[in-house]
Amino acid sequence: MSRWKASQPKRSVGGLAKLRPSSRRLSAFELDLYDHISPELRAKTRLISVPFIPGGYDGMTLGPIVLLKQSLSTDAYSVLLAHELVHVRQWKELGARRFLSSYLADFVKGLKTHRSWRAAYRSIGLEVEARDLAGEWQKRHSSAR
Ligand SMILES: [Zn+2]
Repeated sequence: MSRWKASQPKRSVGGLAKLRPSSRRLSAFELDLYDHISPELRAKTRLISVPFIPGGYDGMTLGPIVLLKQSLSTDAYSVLLAHELVHVRQWKELGARRFLSSYLADFVKGLKTHRSWRAAYRSIGLEVEARDLAGEWQKRHSSAR
């Protein structure tokens, strides 16, 4: 490394680092908190913080990997993580092929019924379950505060 590079301001390096995806497991606190899926699945889950997700989504789950947008507020982050962890369980139970075929079949059916991208997405059975269970999880944890 040259002397010139070494003397670059740290702030700009940190700024770039924020845009870079970072990956981690759930913290000890989160392992305790997200009690709506099994401890084994919580321990296997890997969280990847990303600057953006295509399609304008805030989160996305692929098997045990959860992508979460970096710019979320703390509250939005925790409820979204609860939601995405339901998808981790669904992936585990169904396997990739059945998860994706069920998801797509419901989406196409929803598009035909509702004629709306958003309504079709909301009608996907796996999304309905994830929303419901994350909502229940949120109620249990907000009343306990
Ligand atoms: Zn979802």
